[in-house]
Amino acid sequence: MVGGARVKRIGLLGGMSWQSSALYYSLINEAVAERLGGFHSADCLMVSVDFADIERMQHDGDWAAAGDRLAREAAALELAGADLLVLCTNTMHKVADVIEQSVGIPLLHLGDVTARAVLDAGLTTVGLLGTRFTMAEPFYRERLESYGLTVVVPTPEQQAVVNRIIYDELVAGVVLDASREQYLAIIDGLGADGVILGCTEIELLVGPADTTLTLFPTTRLHALAAVDAALA
Ligand code: GLU
Repeated sequence: MVGGARVKRIGLLGGMSWQSSALYYSLINEAVAERLGGFHSADCLMVSVDFADIERMQHDGDWAAAGDRLAREAAALELAGADLLVLCTNTMHKVADVIEQSVGIPLLHLGDVTARAVLDAGLTTVGLLGTRFTMAEPFYRERLESYGLTVVVPTPEQQAVVNRIIYDELVAGVVLDASREQYLAIIDGLGADGVILGCTEIELLVGPADTTLTLFPTTRLHALAAVDAALA
């Protein structure tokens, strides 16, 4: 209880990858400590799946299995007392509907959080980096566009570079200067004033110190939005 109001328990669907889940966990706890002071830390639960299972389903295009799996994990979080759900990956929002339908608690959709941050920054055209699924398929872009945003994605060749660096390096915690240079060149070429780091590991590689463009780091935005929701 804080000031008479019960702080909500955040349920994190993590492990996709654990590198970014660790970031979520730190950011959420830091924000709660800052907001509430004293000995406060976040009341949260995390299911951290084996990413190999999820990556195989992505690779095979078996989104039905991925949706079923994450829906089951979400139900387990609800049963364990979670009041809201945070799906700690942009890509797996492809199955957000399936997850939402399997629980009675709200899912804090990453696309909504991100779109609001872009609008709050006064921008309407924004670049989007992420996995090939996030950049090339409509599920994420259309969610952003439903807020009136114009979304610019890299060329197919550039998308292949961005995607390769995520899966070959970032999900394993490998952060290389050469890859950062490649990302920055691609970001600069988009011609947008702001860029969504639409994969929860990209913040490990690129930050505000690397570019003058406005960045929208989805892990940080999502984690802070979860704390807002938990303390509301
Ligand atoms: N964490 C990533 C994302 O935000 C990629 C890993 C995944 O495929 O879930 O899209």
